[in-house]
Amino acid sequence: MSIFKFDVITLFPKAFELINNSGVITRALDKNLIDVNLHDLRKYGVGSYRQVDDKPYGGGAGMVLKPEPIYNAYESIRKSPKSKTLLMTPQGKVLKQKDLAGWSTLNQIIIICGQYEGFDERIRCLADEEISIGDYVLSGGEIPAISIINGLTRLLPGTLGDPHSLVDESHNSSLLEYPQYTRPLTFKDMKVPDILVSGNHEEIKSWRRRKSIERTLERRSDLISNENYKKYPQSKRIIKEYNQFMKLRIGNEYDNYPDW
Ligand code: SAH
Repeated sequence: MSIFKFDVITLFPKAFELINNSGVITRALDKNLIDVNLHDLRKYGVGSYRQVDDKPYGGGAGMVLKPEPIYNAYESIRKSPKSKTLLMTPQGKVLKQKDLAGWSTLNQIIIICGQYEGFDERIRCLADEEISIGDYVLSGGEIPAISIINGLTRLLPGTLGDPHSLVDESHNSSLLEYPQYTRPLTFKDMKVPDILVSGNHEEIKSWRRRKSIERTLERRSDLISNENYKKYPQSKRIIKEYNQFMKLRIGNEYDNYPDW
């Protein structure tokens, strides 16, 4: 199996000590499934002060990353044929699970991290995709980059102890995951639902499916709403299934899911 390479251009390589932060990622590093190369932007700085940032043309607050150090760092990276370059920016496309799944079939991701007020506009030409990890602003691209490395690594074959754990989880099928319980059976008067200890696997499967659907409709109906029907073709089937569940539970007086 070929190793998945992450090459990261950053002014703060130390932030990436956080990568080795979980059992799953540690295992991937130990098994040489991934390799993370940090390219310290400072090394590519301009002049004897190794300058990496400068004041914005036209005035305004803060400093902006200069283009030359990032271009030089980028050009020093060996690119594999199946490689993508991602630029971290709150102006990018908001990261989704399906993006991580798509990239997991490559064998290299190059990540460019911004800092301060951002970066010179000409840096955008280097990116295949501009990615945001959500509609909020962080002080640098390091935490977004770590999120991508973490989320993608756990999808690589051989990383998770049991690959089945990927199947049902939230955002994998536009549904959130069903509620999970572990021992003890009763904790502070809160009891595990009887069905989960019934040993009836068919019924457990059906209960979980219904809970998943209910949860998604309650919390994130945008994931399976009517408007999103075109984007998520499975929505129609999911709502139909939900209506069937509810008819069984409540009887014929149950009206179909609203907005449908
Ligand atoms: N002034 C910029 C934001 C700068 S934040 C603007 O309005 O677009 C500094 C850097 O942090 C960014 O260049 C980017 O690399 C990173 N960053 C901040 N928030 C982010 C987010 N939500 N997703 C991805 N990267 C982000």
